[in-house]
Amino acid sequence: MTAELLAEDGREVSGGTTPTGLPLIGPVHRRPRLFSLMGYGGNGITYARIAAEVVRNKLAEKEDSDADLYALSDRVTSQTSFH
Ligand SMILES: Cc1cc2nc3c(=O)[nH]c(=O)nc-3n(C[C@H](O)[C@H](O)[C@H](O)COP(=O)(O)OP(=O)(O)OC[C@H]3O[C@@H](n4cnc5c(N)ncnc54)[C@H](O)[C@@H]3O)c2cc1C
Repeated sequence: MTAELLAEDGREVSGGTTPTGLPLIGPVHRRPRLFSLMGYGGNGITYARIAAEVVRNKLAEKEDSDADLYALSDRVTSQTSFH
């Protein structure tokens, strides 16, 4: 994951992102009760809403067609470098 500093209209915020631009949302490997909600990049408000739905569905044990798209799985080790 890389962090970018956005400066626009006098505001600054560091926003973590991933090489694919997709956030990392879902249970952490071998820690099924610990959820990752990070890497929103510049779309934090949108992804926060999607993340809430993914986590809600996971906790309710409901199917979620978006969940696999954002799941950590192998992405943390194969695609993500921490700086
Ligand atoms: C200056 C700034 C500008 C931004 N501009 C944009 C923008 O233009 N467009 C965009 O898409 N995104 C923007 N973002 C990003 C967006 O606001 C965030 O990505 C989004 O709000 C993250 O939502 P979240 O629910 O994951 O976390 P948060 O909104 O941070 O919510 C976490 C909540 O958990 C609470 N909390 C934390 N710890 C505990 C605890 N131990 N117990 C109980 N409660 C706890 C906090 O008080 C908070 O209410 C901006 C962010 C900043 C800082």
